[in-house]
Amino acid sequence: MNFKEHIRVIPDFPQPGIRFKDITTLLNNGPVYKEVINRFADHYRGKGIDLIAGPEARGFVIGAPLAYALGIGFVPIRKSGKLPGETVEAGYDLEYGKDKLAVHKDAIGAGQRVLIADDLLATGGTISTTINLVNQLQGEVVGAAFLIELTYLNGRDKLNGIDVMSLIQY
Ligand code: 5GP
Repeated sequence: MNFKEHIRVIPDFPQPGIRFKDITTLLNNGPVYKEVINRFADHYRGKGIDLIAGPEARGFVIGAPLAYALGIGFVPIRKSGKLPGETVEAGYDLEYGKDKLAVHKDAIGAGQRVLIADDLLATGGTISTTINLVNQLQGEVVGAAFLIELTYLNGRDKLNGIDVMSLIQY
């Protein structure tokens, strides 16, 4: 299945010069969306993963169905101020913009094996910050799964050798 043909590229969004990879056209197509999740599930099944952590909002649409498919828990990584319980936080830079991410302190136990999932790897800022949060809770990051990787931004190099899987590359 050619996943790339289901991604819509929108020029100059959200800022001039950025060619935004719009995944909503892929999500809109049930069989294609299902095949994406199945491809990840086939890759990660049997690898002893305890939890999937996904940053809001598009990390949820990859991470949550994958957690369901694997029969494991999902940990939402949210923007600062959104989670109701006790949290740990870390700051990050985006391809465009800055923010802070947070996770519930009791969401990940020491030594739990955590897979991180998001829609897209750009500079790696979001995922480095998510790794930082998992590490603060003494979880073990065992990999990172992305629908799309922008290889020209070299985000992988920021992830300290963590195993990266992506289904579409630009
Ligand atoms: P990074 O932190 O790796 O620079 O940027 C990745 C994050 O920004 C992801 O959470 C992703 O959702 C968002 N992002 C950046 N550029 C794009 C894009 O072109 N398309 C989509 N769908 N998300 C993007």
